Amino acid sequence: MKKIAPYNAKQVEENMLSYWQDNCIFERSLEQTKDGQTYSFYHGPPLANRLPHFGHSLVASIKDSIGRFQTMRGRSVERRNGWDCHGLPVEFEVEKKLGISGKKQITELGIDVFNTACRDSVFTYKKDWEDFFDRIGRWTDKKNAYATIDTSYTESVWWVFSQIYKKGLIYKGYKSMPYCPRCTTPLSNFEVNEGYKDNVTDPSVYVKFKLSQSNEYMLAWTTTPWSLPGNTALAVKPDEYYVRVALKDDEGSIETLILAEKRLENLSAETFEVLERVLGKDLVGVEYEPLFSIDNLEQNDSLYKIWPAEFVSIEDGTGVLHVAPAFGEDDLALAQEHSIPVLHTVDSGGKIKTDLGLVAFEGKFFKGADKLIIEQLTQKGAIYSAETFEHTYPFCYRCDTPLLYYAIDTWFVAVSTIKDQLQASAKDITWTPDHINTGRFGKWLEGARDWAISRNRYWGAPVPIWVNDEDDTDIIVIESIEQLRELAEGTPDLSDLHRPFIDNVVIKRDGKTYHRIEEVIDCWFESGSMPYAQKHFPFENEKQFADSFPADYISEGLDQTRLWFYVLHVISTILFEKPAYKQVLVNGMIMAADGRKLSKSLKNYPPLDDVFANEGADSLRFYLLSSTPAVSADHMRFDRDALKDVNRNLFMTLSNSVSFLSMYAEIDNWKPTSLERPVNLKNPLDIWLCERVGQTIATTTEALNKFELAKASWPVYELVDELSNWYIRRSRRRYWKSEDDNDKLDAYRTLHWSLVTICQLLAPFAPFASDYFYQHLTEDIQTAPDSVHLSLWPEVILSNEAVLDAMQVVRQLVNDGLAARARAGIKVRQPLTKATISSTIALSTDLQSIISEELNTKKIVVKKAEVASVLLDTKITQVLKNEGMARDIIRNIQQARKDAGLDVENYIDLVLVTDSSALINAIEQCEKIIKTEVLATTLNLNSEQFDYTKSTSIENAELTISLQKVNGAE
Ligand SMILES: [Zn+2]
Repeated sequence: MKKIAPYNAKQVEENMLSYWQDNCIFERSLEQTKDGQTYSFYHGPPLANRLPHFGHSLVASIKDSIGRFQTMRGRSVERRNGWDCHGLPVEFEVEKKLGISGKKQITELGIDVFNTACRDSVFTYKKDWEDFFDRIGRWTDKKNAYATIDTSYTESVWWVFSQIYKKGLIYKGYKSMPYCPRCTTPLSNFEVNEGYKDNVTDPSVYVKFKLSQSNEYMLAWTTTPWSLPGNTALAVKPDEYYVRVALKDDEGSIETLILAEKRLENLSAETFEVLERVLGKDLVGVEYEPLFSIDNLEQNDSLYKIWPAEFVSIEDGTGVLHVAPAFGEDDLALAQEHSIPVLHTVDSGGKIKTDLGLVAFEGKFFKGADKLIIEQLTQKGAIYSAETFEHTYPFCYRCDTPLLYYAIDTWFVAVSTIKDQLQASAKDITWTPDHINTGRFGKWLEGARDWAISRNRYWGAPVPIWVNDEDDTDIIVIESIEQLRELAEGTPDLSDLHRPFIDNVVIKRDGKTYHRIEEVIDCWFESGSMPYAQKHFPFENEKQFADSFPADYISEGLDQTRLWFYVLHVISTILFEKPAYKQVLVNGMIMAADGRKLSKSLKNYPPLDDVFANEGADSLRFYLLSSTPAVSADHMRFDRDALKDVNRNLFMTLSNSVSFLSMYAEIDNWKPTSLERPVNLKNPLDIWLCERVGQTIATTTEALNKFELAKASWPVYELVDELSNWYIRRSRRRYWKSEDDNDKLDAYRTLHWSLVTICQLLAPFAPFASDYFYQHLTEDIQTAPDSVHLSLWPEVILSNEAVLDAMQVVRQLVNDGLAARARAGIKVRQPLTKATISSTIALSTDLQSIISEELNTKKIVVKKAEVASVLLDTKITQVLKNEGMARDIIRNIQQARKDAGLDVENYIDLVLVTDSSALINAIEQCEKIIKTEVLATTLNLNSEQFDYTKSTSIENAELTISLQKVNGAE
């Protein structure tokens, strides 16, 4: 073994990256395990049209660590990368880049031009992602990456779609959907969930609807005044009491309002008189006058009447519901039940329509019309009160536009009808942390709703539905390219299935003509189809698919519980009645040190490159993976100081330990010959360390098997600390004492094996440093693999608890004894006569001598007792005092040796000069100890001095140390 250069994270990591690449270490790790049992991992495909950010370092570290661990266990772990390429986020970016917005401008530009721009943009940051993966040490199989734009991928998505259709679970519905007017498409309920914002200020308006037959008003409450022109009905709760109340206005005229009795509190402080109390059902059928006159509105018997509805809330508002069927889920359902007209006063771009005679606000964006509408109604005297209030409101999670509910034809997966199956198959999933199973995920399944899967957009997998021109109930759902080719008119080019090409493919069957519907598929449907589509299943790779499904393991953030985890589960349950994954690890979220979200503008976190350049990727990975909140779906606070501590206390300490071993091994020309755990050890420290390492192997392995990464990684940190601050510190002199060669050999073997094993245990968490040290430690061993990542995970050996317990007692006694010394004000270098030890267990003489050395006492008296304790004899004789001074002198000489640039193994001639008779007495009494400890061949007092001379002060007395290296001496 040779000395090792001082550890520098950045240098080590960059060198290791080149080494891995030059020596194909990743590829060899795959090759080496290819016949092993498959360990299936699904990569959640990121979008490559955006840069990776700080938060990605956590999920990248988690994914990589499990993959490395299983590979070291001999499992075949495919690390296939994938890219999410479709959908609104891509379109949104391209619209911005092209300076266009909305459907009209896209159609004017041409769908082909638009989609080509989308295709060109999807891999904008692919290289940045790949570089990020490399730099953080995440191994991915870049060459075999899949992309959701691949024709083969889309073909599998079509197949999935057709399977769901065959099971009768796809239908078209005219529903009021959460809708983004900027993106002009409905969103699924789980997408809506991603975009709620708190504390949004909106109007809170009480509106008076005058009854046709009397001078009375229904009082309704709304937070969406823009929807008032679309009002076509009012609704009341049939079994609730409503009251007619008389109010006096400022001019003294009396006005009668009708509202729910329980909502009377909402009338402002004016005095009012309750005239009458009626049930809601008694109001049903009463007609009222519309607030606005709408041009070209067909007369209809159901228009502008009061209807009964159980969903009317009595908890807020007035108990009188303003019904605008185009803009509300319940509203539309009520309208469909009673044939009430659906009045679309807002166009698909979110603007008030221009052909309805709403001149004062036509063309305005819906939210922008609120104020004008309130003004106009106030002039008409139709407003009881208008205020603003704060509430939670949904925005488009892609483009940040306020959403509205909008009645539109949409294709759905009837998820609500298969809730039982979803819950049944979810029983086979193990969650980390466990509570998400019945909590966030379980609750979400319980309330599962039908999934809107069509998007009125351009850049996505086209919905494979062709509709008969004559009869829109007659549809063909295509399941393969081959099938489409057979049915299509002519010989269309099907190499690119995107719009607009696919729109031109016409099917003729039995004399009927079918055209494709315009919509594309929700990109979440594509992500949820990745287990099949990444393998182009069922068109090829049947065996690989069977081996890899369901995944043994997936991991993403908590937000994916209702996104990717959910869609994977829905699709796999429908197709195969089983979950898509067996184990899911939900990572937490990195917050800034102050607990706030990471924010570019607040600059409350360091740039990744800065962390890589200073503390290094290993420290970052280990810091994140050993944080319990980060690896169990909670919030962790990113603290740069804690990261620095990991760098110093783990990696620098490990480096110092490797460096210690290497330095003495080089001096002694000692070379390791085996990677086996040493046997027949005699020294209790060696026996203890091997047991301690064995114990850590067991803990770390068990925790990794349970995906408990913090519990798996932290014990390695503690082991490194104990190895350095207990084992090496206690064993230091064994490496240079040449009196007992067997003991020294055991010390080498023990420390070497322990460090090698620690590197292996660290490999999943800190892939660079672990490999760097491993390679250094094993370079003399011919049979050792070229990388720690090609080595086999250390075997779990049951540890000898008694050995560990005994050392625990020893360390406890030592700590107590040192505390007693500190209390008595006696420094550790001052020897004492004896310590009386009470121990709960029998301590061997070897262990007793460790205590005696640590406490620096001449003798140890041991008593057996129920409680462990230490009693020190603090009487200091002159002989002991001299020894204490000699220890001080030795420490100063050692420092002088270092300052003179001597190597630890160099022998010296030594001269000590002092006037102090106390020091002279101490030196004379302890001459032998001093010479041995500082490797002095000669020791003279007050004689001629050497080149290197240094003065110091001991016990208030002046001492001059002078030394020179003895040439040729051993
Ligand atoms: Zn949007």
